[in-house]
Amino acid sequence: VITINGLYKSFGELDVLKGIDLSIYRGENIAVLGKSGSGKSVLIKIIAGLLKPDKGEVTVLGKKVTELNGKELDELRLRIGFSFQSSALYDSMDVYQNLAFPLTMNVKHLTRKQVDLAVEEALDAVGLKDKINELPADLSGGQRKRIGIARTLILKPEIMLYDEPTSGLDPITCAEINTLIIEVQQQYKTSSVIITHDLTCAKNTCDRIAMLIDGTFSKVGTFEDVLNANDDQVKKFFAYNF
Ligand code: ATP
Ligand code: MG
Repeated sequence: VITINGLYKSFGELDVLKGIDLSIYRGENIAVLGKSGSGKSVLIKIIAGLLKPDKGEVTVLGKKVTELNGKELDELRLRIGFSFQSSALYDSMDVYQNLAFPLTMNVKHLTRKQVDLAVEEALDAVGLKDKINELPADLSGGQRKRIGIARTLILKPEIMLYDEPTSGLDPITCAEINTLIIEVQQQYKTSSVIITHDLTCAKNTCDRIAMLIDGTFSKVGTFEDVLNANDDQVKKFFAYNF
């Protein structure tokens, strides 16, 4: 569902991505691991069409992202759920309004009842139906992440992009978010890219792991493949994590 070929991206003098190749298959969850500043967020922003690469080809759901015009890109983005590093909820809106907003903005002529049902279904998927009238400020960090995920589910995405879904959460809440990621994969039949520093998250939620080191994927494979890779940089990354 996603194919990346020979992708390059620099910011001024700073070469961030230096020849990225990766294919993500239908129904697969893939984790992207790498040091802070290695370009993980830049990569998924390019996949979502939020940033333009300098060179290379990115095909998402059969469309060449780099060749789409504004309207085509908007249409493609509706099929992609982006869970941001910060949950990016609207603080002045309650949970119901936060979820209803992307739906009513993008799908015309919905009845109030249809919107209510969609909000309820998305909240149900993340297990937070009872928070429907709360403000984001009154939610815990973990709950805000869940509501952020629910807001992307409301448009029934085919692809989910998670930018550090478990960062800043305690181990129990992390485990709950990991379970949620797998439930979303099964219930919504999504393919996902999950950026994480959390090896437990990568191991438990992902079919494969891609290690981003020095601007390229130096190792892509199952968790065990990568853990046992004969590569100094990969070994170093894992050594600091255990
Ligand atoms: P973290 O784990 O800390 O989130 P990351 O791997 O997601 O790190 P990115 O956010 O992808 O890192 O950033 C990679 C590099 O690109 C950083 O050095 C960052 O400063 C730079 N960068 C990202 N976006 C821009 C931008 N819009 N303009 C200039 N530089 C940028
Ligand atoms: Mg990042």
